[in-house]
Amino acid sequence: MDPVLNYIDGAFMAAQSGETLNTVNPATGDVITTLPRSSSKDVETATTAALRASSKWAATSMVERIQWLHRLADALEEDHETIARLESMDTGKPISLARRVDASRSVANFRFFAEFGEQHEEPTFSDHGAVNHVHRSPIGCVGLITPWNLPLYLLTWKVAPALLMGNTIVAKPSELSPLTAHHLANVMQRIGLPKGVFNLVHGLGPEVGQAIVEHPQIRGISFTGGTSTGKIVAATAAPMFKKISLELGGKNATVVLDDAPLDEIMDDLVRASFTNSGQVCLCGSRVLVDSSIYEDFKGRFVKAVGKIVIGDPTEESTTMGTVISKDHQQKVESYIRLGVEEGGKVLIGGTSSEAPVDNVPSEGAFLRPTVLEGLSHTARTATEEIFGPVVTLHSFDNEDEAVAMANATEYGLAGSVWTNDTQRGHAFGQRLDTGIVWVNTWLNRDLRTPFGGVKQSGVGREGGAWSLNFFSELTNICVLQP
Ligand code: NDP
Repeated sequence: MDPVLNYIDGAFMAAQSGETLNTVNPATGDVITTLPRSSSKDVETATTAALRASSKWAATSMVERIQWLHRLADALEEDHETIARLESMDTGKPISLARRVDASRSVANFRFFAEFGEQHEEPTFSDHGAVNHVHRSPIGCVGLITPWNLPLYLLTWKVAPALLMGNTIVAKPSELSPLTAHHLANVMQRIGLPKGVFNLVHGLGPEVGQAIVEHPQIRGISFTGGTSTGKIVAATAAPMFKKISLELGGKNATVVLDDAPLDEIMDDLVRASFTNSGQVCLCGSRVLVDSSIYEDFKGRFVKAVGKIVIGDPTEESTTMGTVISKDHQQKVESYIRLGVEEGGKVLIGGTSSEAPVDNVPSEGAFLRPTVLEGLSHTARTATEEIFGPVVTLHSFDNEDEAVAMANATEYGLAGSVWTNDTQRGHAFGQRLDTGIVWVNTWLNRDLRTPFGGVKQSGVGREGGAWSLNFFSELTNICVLQP
């Protein structure tokens, strides 16, 4: 495969230093291609281009920018299968998942914000003989930094509203999964988006990401990634009073109440636990179950987990591929060992040596879905983000206890409640300290709704009007009526 290159001012180029990194297929351990190991110099060049393009892009009409978003959605739709294949190869996720989630949602992000922009109105307020017009201006040049788990899905979730609101962009994808961002840059060039409006700089987080956050003329940063990186981003950006949106980690609870219809929900619960090998920030990694149904639930859950088909991500029948890398595999395995040290019992799965996956390359980062029970809900394994196919089961005796257990982490991204009684689920959901709660569903996303977390899961919300607010500055123009 051709090398991945930076995309700056409408042209593809290597890092100024000429240095490169490898991107690896986690299912085989093979190097797929190289990408630039860029530095602050490349970020500077990209920012200069973005700033140069800024005033002209900001001066385009909303209608014009909406048309660009539709063109991007059309082009990504045409490339749906290519995108799914690139994403699957770069991350080890099953091809079926890459099609259904990553490729489809990338199209949907552009289409959604195009259609949402069509309905956009600037509000006015009249009082005291004056009319207040709330005018939105672009921030200018914004920095977009994204992780490896849903590479194009999360990048386009930021690119679409940023462009819609008239900003120019310097983006950095994770160096572990750069292929689809590179493809997006190709699409930008193919459809003729004006030079400098979208710039992409590849490389390492502490080098390229840090340079983007530090750059004084990049006035807004939308970051999705881990909480520890988010702290660095926040600390770097705060003294410059940049706008920041931080979508960070999670340790989400899946709460199964005593009246939950277990027959109907088991497949959804397995999906909520193990989609993308548990590497979705919204996955429920702590399953809290009413003690009166715990044993019944446990048997059914473990049986359903055992049906996951783990193997070659290119096979249509595969439902779980690898984790992102060998390093990450080792991190996840260290948590499985910690869980046992902390008193947990492995019900299914285990480390790759205890529970090897058959017929896969030994260089592949495969891990079986693992379920542990018997841990305190305050154990490290049950409170720290593992971000892999590991779930802990806990039982509770009443709703108050379930709420206390669900809220007993530093994180507050999402949660789900499963019950026969939707009113009960709704009331329970309001007691969870999270940004998102699903009742009898999971990953059910209406893109108009606010998305984001509380506590250590982030600052701010994205989605619908919240994204438009983030990617714009508001000026209130108060006009005294004659
Ligand atoms: P990281 O925080 O390691 O990285 C995220 C991005 O930040 C990457 O592009 C990374 O580059 C970059 N980065 C690293 N250091 C810096 C720095 N000093 N300044 C600026 N950017 C930097 O997260 P992961 O990629 O490991 O992704 C997994 C995490 O993302 C999990 O915690 C998960 O919960 C979270 N996440 C949150 C979501 C949400 O919506 N709340 C959604 C999806 C994931 P590089 O890769 O080169 O290090």
